[in-house]
Formats: sequence, C-alpha cells, structure tokens
Amino acid sequence: MSTIAFLGLGNMGGPMAANLVKGGHDVVGFDLVPELLATAVANGVRAAESAEAAVSGVDAVITMLPSGAAVKSVYAAILPHATPGQLFIDSSTISVEDARAVHQQAVDAGLMQLDAPVSGGVKGATAGTLAFMVGGDSTALAAAQPILKPMAGKVVACGGPGNGQAAKLCNNMILAVQQIAVGEAFALAEKLGLEDQALYDVVTGATGNCWALQVNCPVPGPVETSPANNEFRPGFATALMNKDLHLAMDAIGATGATAPLGSHAASLYDAFAAENGGLDFSAIIDTLR
Ligand code: NAD
Repeated sequence: MSTIAFLGLGNMGGPMAANLVKGGHDVVGFDLVPELLATAVANGVRAAESAEAAVSGVDAVITMLPSGAAVKSVYAAILPHATPGQLFIDSSTISVEDARAVHQQAVDAGLMQLDAPVSGGVKGATAGTLAFMVGGDSTALAAAQPILKPMAGKVVACGGPGNGQAAKLCNNMILAVQQIAVGEAFALAEKLGLEDQALYDVVTGATGNCWALQVNCPVPGPVETSPANNEFRPGFATALMNKDLHLAMDAIGATGATAPLGSHAASLYDAFAAENGGLDFSAIIDTLR
C-alpha cells in the first residue's frame, strides 16, 4: 500500500483516484473545483487543502491535468514541497517538449518522474482498464507498477522521458486518419448503393479493418455501442482529438517529420471542432457526405 497524492480529479482523474482507493492505496486528492473534490471524498479520497499540501509525506504524486501549461504550473508550485526520492507520475496528455521539461525539473529536485499518458477514455478510467504509455527510466517504472495496477489494463514501457507522450501522439494521429478514411468509405458506399451493414461485414473480415470501423463505426446499425447509435455522444470528444492533433502537429513542426495525411486530418478536425467539439470524433463523417 502506498500513500498517493492525486492532483486533478476531473473526468479521468476522479475515477482513477477512486480505483486507487479500491486497490488499497491511501489517496490524498486536490482539484480546483470543490464539487469534484467532494465527489472524490465520497469515493474514499482524503481531501487536501492545496496541491502543495497534498504532496507532503506521500510516496507518489499523480497529476491528471488539462494541459502542459497546467502541469508546468502545478509542478512549479509543488516541487519546492517535494521530498527527494518521491515518485512523480504525469498522466495528462501534454507535448513531448513539456513532458521532458518537467521531467528534468523533477530529476533536478531529486525525484523519480515518469510521463504516463493513457488511452481508454472515461470508460477505461472507470473500469480500471486504461492503457498506460510510459516514458522514463526502468527504476521509476518498477516503483510505479503497483501504483498503476488498479487503474490499468496494460502498461507499456516506451523508453526515455517524453516517449510515453510520443507514443500517445503517434497513436492518435493514426486514429484520426483512420476515422476519416472509414467515414469516406461509408460515404462512397452510400453513393454506390452498397448497404452499410454489407460494407461493415466485408471490411471487418478484410484488410481494411481497424478500431475506427470495428468498434467506433460511424454509421448507426452495425455496432450497437458505437456513438453513431447515440447521436454521437462521446466516446472520445472531437475537442480532445483536436487537442491531441495540435500536439502532434507541434511535434511535427519541432522535428521536421512529414505527415501529409496526419496534417490534413488535423486541419479537418480543427475546422470540425469549432462547432462540434462535444460530439464524438467519428461524427466527422457528416462533413464527408
Ligand atoms: P478534466 O478537465 O475533466 O479534468 C482536469 C481537472 O484538472 C479539472 O477538474 C481541473 O479543475 C483540474 N485542475 C486544473 N488545474 C488544476 C490545479 N492547478 N490543481 C488541481 N487541479 C487542477 O479533463 P480530463 O478529461 O479528466 O482529462 C485529463 C487529461 O487526460 C487531459 O490531459 C486529457 O487530454 C487526458 N485524456 C483525457 C481522456 C478523456 O477521454 N477525457 C482520454 C485520455 C486522455
């Protein structure tokens, strides 16, 4: 059993902290929104008065915050209150550059630090089946394993600091391109007189199969649980996909990598997110018809 500070108890952090409690850990939490802190307390989390107060005397600190700016500002506030040897895990989705910057600050303060972004959404956070992509050294990862366990379906070591974020950005860029490609195929099939179900049955058994089709099918019918059957309620909101694509485009700019399809997908989602940020990202099919 470890004592863990959990900072950021929102859509993801709330259920993650609750699963840590269920896993037998002692969790002290903080969020700027009092109602979210109260919900966490109802789930067995002890309330801290501030982020700074939460980190004193704990074994590990997990951050689950909206942006790189928020992570940098929280780290600036809490690092002076940290004790050398503590393990810091940031599970927010932020840029590789920001992840490497906060890693260095933590190491300079005598701490172990990992970037450990997740996929699996609120559903995975609630079920304790998130996939963690971890960047950082193997000693820190070994220390993190029993802490990640109650929240995780899978933990993948991705290499050095920032590499968890790199894996997350690459995965979501693939996903964005695939969701558009699947939408284009259904739009074309509709014009050719091919039934949605027939296209689904053929492609899920053929070489074009992918998660964007098999699980997140963008037309109602073939997959009962896909957002298309539920007025495109997320799922994975377009605003979050758009955020991740912005981070991917920043990384492309910084590295000089070329990604013509990823870049085009990013511009399509940028335009779509302006009016439809709250819809599941598979709703982009409506712009392709
Ligand atoms: P959220 O906005 O619901 O939660 C973030 C929380 O951080 C908020 O409750 C906010 O009040 C709190 N916060 C902000 N600044 C703070 C501070 N200084 N101290 C304490 N708390 C502070 O967002 P979320 O959906 O839970 O996502 C969290 C992170 O996980 C994001 O980086 C997101 O990109 C990533 N993510 C989200 C999903 C998803 O499906 N929601 C999936 C994978 C990854």
